[in-house]
Amino acid sequence: MARKTLIAGNWKMNGRLADGVDLAKGIAAEVKKLGKPSCEFLVCPPFTILSSVKKALRGAKVALGAQDCHFAEKGAHTGDISPLMLTDLGCSYVILGHSERRADHFESNELVNKKAVAAHQAGLKTVICIGETLEQRDAGKTIAVCSDQILGSVPDDSTAADTVIAYEPVWAIGTGKTPTASDVEEVHAAVRKVLAKKLGKGNANKMRILYGGSVKPSNAKEFLSLPDVDGALIGGASLKVEDFMAIAKNSGC
Ligand code: PEP
Repeated sequence: MARKTLIAGNWKMNGRLADGVDLAKGIAAEVKKLGKPSCEFLVCPPFTILSSVKKALRGAKVALGAQDCHFAEKGAHTGDISPLMLTDLGCSYVILGHSERRADHFESNELVNKKAVAAHQAGLKTVICIGETLEQRDAGKTIAVCSDQILGSVPDDSTAADTVIAYEPVWAIGTGKTPTASDVEEVHAAVRKVLAKKLGKGNANKMRILYGGSVKPSNAKEFLSLPDVDGALIGGASLKVEDFMAIAKNSGC
């Protein structure tokens, strides 16, 4: 089953207006040079510059995503952003359940699920993040934790067309440490099995499962050539045009 590789950048809380626009213009120019890229590209800047980044990406095959949304359409939720507001800005994706939100904002699987339902209703595709802490890994619970997160965070009616999974071991994010390739493949294959039970084999076989956690140009090929790895969610290295594009090129895009 051919799954189109997704190269996604999570800019986190980085990017004032000028540098965010520069970064987006740089990525847009490089992606245009690829002509018809075999991969799909996605950038997820902070809310504040979504609109400017959208303009900077004009004409390039690079999708725009946000890093979170609320589950309500509108209402008394001070400081929150609804899925429809993101579509107004030209977003087609939203990252949900990133470990930094699960940790900093106490987001549960249940909450991530509610947000994903709302995002899908608004026509957004979701990148739903899962991954174990170092403590859970050391206790041999990686697959159990990831399975629970899939079962709890992914809506029951999700499809390969509206959902992407990102496996991001928490201890690998921003640390320069990574699991071995065989560890990554083991988790991705296990996640696909859980998805098959939850959503049916057809969806599971078509659904993209990204790896995230200290992906850089030098290790991209190793991870992205694994059978069940369908792209990367990239934090730090997505903030430099050269690194982001080198990861794409080294992944065969
Ligand atoms: C992330 O935050 O999604 C991530 C994978 O970060 P980094 O690439 O910096 O480890």
